[in-house]
Amino acid sequence: MVGGMKFSRLAARFNRPSGIARLMDDLGEAMAGDTDALMLGGGNPAHIPAVERHFKMALQRLLHDPARLAHTLGNYEAPGGNAEFIKALAALMNRQYQWGLKPENVVLTVGSQAAFFYLFNLLGGADDTGRQRQILLPITPEYIGYADVGLSDGLFYARRPLIERLDDHFFKYHVDFADLAVRDNTAAMCVSRPTNPTGNVLSDTELAGLIELARANDIPLIIDNAYGAPFPNIIFTEVRPVWNENIIYCMSLSKLGLPGARTGIVIATEAITDLIRKMNAVIHLATANFGPALAGELVQSGEIVTLSRSVIRPCYEARREHAVRLIKRELDGLDYYIHKPEGAIFLWLWLPGLPVTAEALYERLKAKGVLLIPGSHFFPGLTEDWAHRQQCVRITYSMDERVVERGIRLIAKELKSLLG
Ligand code: PLP
Repeated sequence: MVGGMKFSRLAARFNRPSGIARLMDDLGEAMAGDTDALMLGGGNPAHIPAVERHFKMALQRLLHDPARLAHTLGNYEAPGGNAEFIKALAALMNRQYQWGLKPENVVLTVGSQAAFFYLFNLLGGADDTGRQRQILLPITPEYIGYADVGLSDGLFYARRPLIERLDDHFFKYHVDFADLAVRDNTAAMCVSRPTNPTGNVLSDTELAGLIELARANDIPLIIDNAYGAPFPNIIFTEVRPVWNENIIYCMSLSKLGLPGARTGIVIATEAITDLIRKMNAVIHLATANFGPALAGELVQSGEIVTLSRSVIRPCYEARREHAVRLIKRELDGLDYYIHKPEGAIFLWLWLPGLPVTAEALYERLKAKGVLLIPGSHFFPGLTEDWAHRQQCVRITYSMDERVVERGIRLIAKELKSLLG
C-alpha cells in the first residue's frame, strides 16, 4: 500500500530500490544542469561534433522531404520497425560478416533496454509447467540494466570471473569455464561484449566456448553489442562478430550518439523476432521512427561503419588514454588496478584495500560533488558473498575531458584519505 492506494505485486517490484533507477535519476539531474555534480556515473555517449553533423544534415534532409517528414511525424511506424531501415541493416550485416540474414531476422525495439526486458522475460520465468527458468550470466561484473528487468524473482544466476593480474596496475577478467555448469532450468545465457561496466572484451575463443555451450544445451546466447562492431565500434581489440540461429544479437543506435532516439535492434531467428514484434504492438503500438529517420541513410550507404571506425572509435580511444593517464598520475602510490579497457566507455577500478564499501565510497563522493557507480550493482544473479564486489567502482570517461579530470582528482583525493 502506498498512501492508502493499493498496488499489485508488479508495482512492488518497480517500487523497490533499484540501482538503474537511481543511476538514471542521478544522470537526469546532472544532464539537466540541476546540480554542479561531476557526472562520471552515467552511460551517456560523448557529443562528437563530426557525428552530430551527420545527424543534423539528415534532419535537414528530412525537413525538406515532405513525404518522408509526414510519415516520420504523422504515422505510427510498423511494430517491427521501419521496413526500409531493417532491409538496409540486414544487407549491411551480410556485407560485413556474410551472416545470410533475411529482413525477417531483424526487429527494432524502443531502445535496446526494452529488448532485454522482452528477451529475459520471454525466455526466463515460469514455463507452462510452472517451472522457473533462469538466465545465466556466465561472467560478472555485468550490465546493471539487466538486474531489475525480471517480472519474477530469481531470474538470473551468475558466475564469478577468473582474475588475471597484468603489469602496470592493470588486470583482466576471464570466463571461468571450469565453473560454468549450465543448470537444466537455464533458458538462455547473456553477455555484454564490450562489457559494461568493465570495458572487457571477451576473446573470440571465449565467445566460441560460450556459443558451443549454448549449442550443447540447446539454449540461445544473447550477445549485447551496444558498444561493439560494426557500429558504434567503441572496441579497441580486433574481434570477429558471429551470428547463428542460436545467437540473439542485440544492437543500439544510442552509443552512436542517438540515445534520445531510443532505437534498439535485435537480430535473431524469426521465432524470436516475431514474438518481439507482437510484444512491441501490445506495449508500444509502434517503434520509434526517429532513429531510422536519422541513421537510415548512413546504414544504407554503409557510411555508418566508416564513421564508427574513423571518428567514433578514435575519439573514445583518446578519452580512454586521457582517463588512464590521469588515474595513473593521481593514484600514484596507492594499491589500485584498472581493468584492461578494451571497449565501451568506462574504467573499472579495483581497490583491494578499500576500508569502506563501494556504496559508502559512492555516498562520500556524491557529497563532494562527483558521481560514479559503486561496483556492487554490477553482479546481477551472483548470490554468493564476494568481497571483490565492494572493492570496485565504475568511472565513465565519455564526458568532457575537463569534467573527467576534475572528477578523477576528487576521487583520488578521497581515496588517498581512505587508503593512504
Ligand atoms: N546494454 C548495455 C551494455 C548498455 O550499456 C546499455 C546502455 O547503457 C544498454 C544495453 C541499453 O541502451 P539503449 O536502451 O539506450 O539501447
